[in-house]
Amino acid sequence: MNLFSFTANFTDEQSCRLHFKEERDKQGVSCKRCSGKDHYWLKGKWSYQCKSCKFRTSLRSGTIMEHSKLSFLIWYKTMFLMTATKKGFSSKEIQRQLGLKRYEPVWAMVHKLRKAMGERDDRYTLEGMVEADEGYFTIEASAQEHRTQKAGRGSKTKRNVMVMAESTPLEDLENKTKSTQCGYFKAKVLTNHKVDGVNETIQEYLEERSIVFTDKSTSYVDISDFVELHITEKSSKETTKETLKWVHIFISNAKRNFLGNYHKIKGKYLQLYLNEFVYKLNRRYFGEKIFDRLIIANITASGN
Ligand SMILES: [Zn+2]
Repeated sequence: MNLFSFTANFTDEQSCRLHFKEERDKQGVSCKRCSGKDHYWLKGKWSYQCKSCKFRTSLRSGTIMEHSKLSFLIWYKTMFLMTATKKGFSSKEIQRQLGLKRYEPVWAMVHKLRKAMGERDDRYTLEGMVEADEGYFTIEASAQEHRTQKAGRGSKTKRNVMVMAESTPLEDLENKTKSTQCGYFKAKVLTNHKVDGVNETIQEYLEERSIVFTDKSTSYVDISDFVELHITEKSSKETTKETLKWVHIFISNAKRNFLGNYHKIKGKYLQLYLNEFVYKLNRRYFGEKIFDRLIIANITASGN
């Protein structure tokens, strides 16, 4: 979807609603009262009616748009803006671009979309050979927290993020050169005690048959319990460039992106910004289809 096809397809509220209905029909509607799947469409009411219990489901109900007062057109424009560039937009910028008076509803909409992106990616686990390492992301902190912070780990002005990347070796036998190709990524803010947090993250987001590469950090002592093989390497310049190449590229790109787009991020929202960054990165070859995929994520997300 580029700007020209977007404006040609979505001229008004009606065209967005019709498109959303079409996509929702493909995913199927489930009745909140009786879980029935068969519905009539009540055209004048923009609602579905359950064939067995007559319960009505509005076009928005059960999607992340459920409690939003913003129009379908505004949601569509926002989904377009969020997927149109790799870079992304802040809520402030989206508010400005759409000429909306109030900031809060825009902020809520954008965060719901980021949440839906994360849920979509959480349906998949990483597999094969996986690089894993932590990045320390700067977050907004009070002046007091800045004064009393400890450097590095456990700092109040930074959050620990576990970054994982599928990394397939490509061996060029003729030139005897080795390189890796990256697949899907994950980035999760670690909230609880160090080793526990790492263990939970590895267990939840990696296939049991994976082979994991990390440095020799003590937080990684249990990783081998959850995967096929855990290979550690002492941190060095070569590790950063080769064994853990993709996670390091991810960390520096994500940090640069956040700094350029959002200025300051509160710790409790960092995961949402990571969701968007990872979602788009994982769909980097989708081209213009990424817009349609985000609409599906909107429909199938757990909502509110
Ligand atoms: Zn029903």
